Parts: sequence; structure tokens; C-alpha cells
Amino acid sequence: MKQTSLDMIDPSDYDVVIAGAGAGGLLTALALTAEGKRSLLLERSERLGGVWHGYRLGGYRVDQGLHMITRVTRGSFSRFMRSYLTPPPQFVLHEGWHFRVDSREGTIPSSIGQTLRWPLAGMKGRLSLARIGARIKTMSLEEMKQYKDISFLQFMHSRGVTNQIILDVMQSAIYMAAGVGIERASAYEALRTLRDTDKESSKLASFKKLLFGIGIEYDEGVAIGGMLGLIERVTNAIAGDYVLGAPVEMIRQQGDLIRLRVAGKEIDHRLVVSNIPLSSMPNLVKAEKPEVSAFFERWSHLEPTYGLTLWLGLNQVVIGDRKSRVLVHPRPNRWILSLSSFDPSCAPEGKELVAIATVSDRSRSVEEQVQVIKENGLTDYIPGLLDHVEMEHVQTSYATRAALIPGQTDLDRPGPETPLKGLYIVGTDTAGSGVGLQQAANSADCVIRSLRSKF
Ligand SMILES: Cc1cc2nc3c(=O)[nH]c(=O)nc-3n(C[C@H](O)[C@H](O)[C@H](O)COP(=O)(O)OP(=O)(O)OC[C@H]3O[C@@H](n4cnc5c(N)ncnc54)[C@H](O)[C@@H]3O)c2cc1C
Repeated sequence: MKQTSLDMIDPSDYDVVIAGAGAGGLLTALALTAEGKRSLLLERSERLGGVWHGYRLGGYRVDQGLHMITRVTRGSFSRFMRSYLTPPPQFVLHEGWHFRVDSREGTIPSSIGQTLRWPLAGMKGRLSLARIGARIKTMSLEEMKQYKDISFLQFMHSRGVTNQIILDVMQSAIYMAAGVGIERASAYEALRTLRDTDKESSKLASFKKLLFGIGIEYDEGVAIGGMLGLIERVTNAIAGDYVLGAPVEMIRQQGDLIRLRVAGKEIDHRLVVSNIPLSSMPNLVKAEKPEVSAFFERWSHLEPTYGLTLWLGLNQVVIGDRKSRVLVHPRPNRWILSLSSFDPSCAPEGKELVAIATVSDRSRSVEEQVQVIKENGLTDYIPGLLDHVEMEHVQTSYATRAALIPGQTDLDRPGPETPLKGLYIVGTDTAGSGVGLQQAANSADCVIRSLRSKF
């Protein structure tokens, strides 16, 4: 794919026009390439990728968010990478989850026997965990659907699980995967994630071990070359062109075509895929029919998830392993990873790049949140971590455009089709289920399936 300008383009040179070049837009274009189609991507900002982003800071290379990609061996995202990039990108798996609750530490037990010896809970708690695990294990997807409108915490309480440590560990894991706590996450989404009912993404796949005592390999990994390298490869593999600094200002039906006004210029095409957040669509879509406006208005209030990531460049190696650590107590829940232990190219030689991610508490300033992240048990857990910092960098952003809460589960989402003929929607707030890049890839899959019959 090469960069072009609005003055140079002829829309009829392309099979599809894609408005917005975030993960959903880019992955759609990548899959279209495999079908022999050319795309034109129109991106408002001055770079591709949206919140899927990586960049350099001094001698370090950071991602937007710590980007432990969920499911690097199966699921849509991994299929996209394996099928459409040659050779496929390499991912390094982590070496297991480590949960820290005050001064106790526990991994994910890999058998019922280990569950019954789990150091983080007493015998009553362990038995309760084994019981709820057995219950979830026997649930069908249909049965889970009846819990889509209650929270996972309500579900657990309804099943008599009140052990605080178990709830706290689940809270931290669901926080990291879904961006919301168990008091908000839809029970249906949490259950099917734990049960691994389908192709959905989850950082919690390994929780199955805890619940069911069955051996499953971890399937979460870090991409060699980081997000920067990955996006570059995806961009290079796409057939078509892109325009940066090209905000879509208006979308309307024009006969059988979709008309876009882009930085003052009109572009008409038969097939348009919008990766623009649904929250912006009511301001962009101009329609005479009230049902069209009602559709976009209805889906414009989805609640996103917000992440905060603190990057630390250390002048020497302090952690030096590939464990995926979660500090459950004291709060806030923090997810700690030594990225340079996975991919040494992200830090200068002999130094270490560490990321600490948490769900952003938007009632507090970023400075306050960073302060709390650095305190509250962090240096008890990893002594010396803050003594060697030579680079510090904070990121905040929405992570996914629709949190997996009641009313926003994959069963409640719109798309990929819209009431405007020829206009499709893609992205983490549309038809795709799962979280993060899996969700973006799933949504791209849905769009491609719809588009196939239209060429
Ligand atoms: C802190 C953080 C941590 C994360 N961690 C992980 C992780 O560990 N694992 C994982 O799988 N995923 C992770 N993700 C999530 C993943 O990166 C995102 O969910 C995904 O990239 C969002 O894709 P999207 O298609 O919804 O697009 P978005 O990123 O929302 O892209 C939308 C695009 O449309 C453009 N646009 C908007 N309006 C217009 C307009 N009017 N005209 C033209 N263009 C427009 C935007 O500029 C943007 O490029 C993380 C994200 C963040 C921020």
C-alpha cells in the first residue's frame, strides 16, 4: 500500500473505500487483499493504526498499551497474521500468570489437585473454586446467554461464591482482559471467556486451568518487532493506497452509492467500510429516513474501556523473565511485564523495558494514578524496580470502543451492515466479539463475509 493524496485519487480504481485506518480498517483491507481486491483507506490522523500503535522513545520502542496479544496461535487475529503475512510474524509466549495477593503469590493451578492446594485461598475457598469451575464447565453457550444482562459478580454471588480472594483474583484477570471489573463485566461474556466456548479472545484462557484443572498451553504472546513492526508489515501487505490527514466529514446515500465528504472533497463509491467510532457517526451520517438516524443514534453511546500504561526504561535488568505478573492486592490491579525479556530489540543492550498496565481510573488525574501505581506494594513485589529508571513514559487511551458490559455484549452489537445500502461498519464497537485486536479481527471477518457477495 502506498500513500497518496486526495487530489490524486480516482475512487473507481478501488474495490472498496475504507474510512478510518485503525485495526479494524487495516485488517479488513488485509483480508480484501487476499481476495484480490484493492482498498483506499482514508485516515483522519497523520498515521495509520488508530490506537494500535508503537513508537520509539530514545533507545526504547514502546507499544500503545503493553500489547500482550491474546491468542497468538488460534482465533481470527492469529489466522489473519498467519494467512496474510509471509513469513508470519513471530510471537513469544509468556511463562505463566503470577498473581500476587498481599505477600502471597500463586500461579494458575494445572490440576484439580493443585487447585486444592492453591496458596491464595484457604480450603473453603479452594473447594468453592473447584465447585464453580465444575458448574461452568458443564454450561452450554445457550445457557450462558441468559446471563448477558447481569454482571459476573452477580452471577458468582447467585452461585454462592463469596470468597473474597477468589473474587479478587478473578476481578484482576477480567480487568486485564475486558477492561472492566467483575461488578460490571457481563456474566455471559466472562463465562464464555472462561469456558472458551468459541473463537473468542481472552487473556483468561489460562484461567480454565484454574477452573477445570486441564492442561492448556498459554496462548498470549508478545510480537517480535512490537506493534510498530506489525503495523508496518500489515501496511506493506495491503493492496491499495491510503491518504493521511483525510477526515471524513459527512456520509450519505447518493442513489446506489455512498457519498463521503473528505476534507471538503466528495468521494462516491458503491462499497464503503467505516472504521470510524460509532460514537461519531450521528454527526457524520446525513439521512432523510428517520430509521437511519435512529440506527446510528442508538449505537453512539457504547461505553469504551480506558487503559493507562506506565513504561519504565531501566538502566539495568531488574526483572529479566517472561512471567505475566498481576498485582491483585494492594490495589489498583496492575499487570507487569518485562517486554525486553520477550524481545530484546525494544531496549538498548543490557537495559530493560518494563510496562505496567492498569485500567484507567478517570475520576483521578493521570499524575495521581501514576503515583498510586508506583506505590501500593509495587516495590515489595519487585524490589529495586524504581531505583533504575532512566526513561518514564505514560500513555492513556481508550483500548476498546465497547466494554463487555450488559447491553454491549456481542449479542447486542450492530453491524457489519447498516441501513445505508453499501455502508458497512467495522471496529471494536461493531459486530466483532472478543477483546482488542481479536475483536477488531473478528469484526473484519464479519465485514468480509458480507462484502463477498457484493463484488
Ligand atoms: C492501552 C491499550 C492497551 C491495549 N492492549 C491490548 C492488548 O494487550 N491486546 C490486544 O489484543 N489489544 C490491545 N489493545 C486494543 C487494540 O489495540 C484496540 O482495541 C484496537 O486496535 C482498536 O481497533 P478499532 O478498529 O476499534 O480502531 P480504532 O483504533 O478506534 O481506529 C479508528 C480509526 O479511525 C480514524 N478516524 C476516526 N474518525 C475518523 C474520521 N472522521 N475520518 C477518518 N478517520 C477517522 C481514527 O483516527 C483511527 O485511526 C490495547 C489498546 C490500548 C489503547
